[in-house]
Amino acid sequence: MRKRRLKRRAWPWKMLLFIVGLTILSAAGTREAVHAWPHLWTGLSGSGQQASLPNGGEAAASQASGAASAISRGGASASDQVTGNAGAPQQTAAKPAVVHAIARLDKPTVKPAVYKAKPGSKLVALTFDDGPDNRYTPQILDILKKANVHATFFTVGTQVKKYPAIMKRIIQEGNEIGNHSYHHPDLSKLPDTKIVNELMWTDTLIKRSAGIVPDLVRAPYGAVSPSLKAIAMENGRTLVGWTVDTRDWAGDSVPAMRLNVDRNTHPGGIILMHCFGGKHIKNTPVLLPLIIKDLQSKGYTFVTVDQLLAAKAKGSAQA
Ligand SMILES: [Zn+2]
Repeated sequence: MRKRRLKRRAWPWKMLLFIVGLTILSAAGTREAVHAWPHLWTGLSGSGQQASLPNGGEAAASQASGAASAISRGGASASDQVTGNAGAPQQTAAKPAVVHAIARLDKPTVKPAVYKAKPGSKLVALTFDDGPDNRYTPQILDILKKANVHATFFTVGTQVKKYPAIMKRIIQEGNEIGNHSYHHPDLSKLPDTKIVNELMWTDTLIKRSAGIVPDLVRAPYGAVSPSLKAIAMENGRTLVGWTVDTRDWAGDSVPAMRLNVDRNTHPGGIILMHCFGGKHIKNTPVLLPLIIKDLQSKGYTFVTVDQLLAAKAKGSAQA
């Protein structure tokens, strides 16, 4: 009898613990939800995926492990790195606290951008994340081509693998490609070896499809950790954030996004859009010609991120 009563009394406590647990879990999820739509990427990070990763990635890892130490790309020091979002303090953190004695990534093969901005010109970079796909990415490429504007695509390994021909097209039409990880995880929460794998596998696929090893990395959700910064710096990669989030991923209306871009774009800005990732992305090809027109009428010149960084380094433009 006594035992049974005790058991019964235990229930409210279990319920309470359950509710507390749920609250903690949902609070933890809030930050992610800021940048992530619900949620394309869940289910991709299971260990079952390992088998489908590019074989070249693992091979490259073991080959590269004995490679030379820190590689730094001309002109792109740690202080050039664009990290975080609008308003975030620029980190000058140059000295990594940890020595990442792990596999080196391949050296970027893209030549440092040479860009001569007219004195006082206003530069802005358009960026498209999470692709390529075979639906919105071709539409976006058509619009860019028609407007004679180049942009930067931060591509995800799982997509690169599916659409190598689109990757080729991106680069052939004068646009730029950056690495946006393989599975789109929060890299700031991963151990070093996993961060390196995420970047390396995508590098391998980008190289296979587009023929280059990119120098730019954008962290999924803009989530950057000291480890990621150090790995990027040691491998001659520049971490790229953004200054204007169009919120195309969140389903903002086209007029709202247009106003957002108009109000928040300043010289040297980097505009975040997506070319893959759920139903809301259908608005992005509608928005794109409008903001190209708006910003051109305000005197902006569109450049790739590399060109923007080159101009910033030279101080020749309002960038
Ligand atoms: Zn992303």
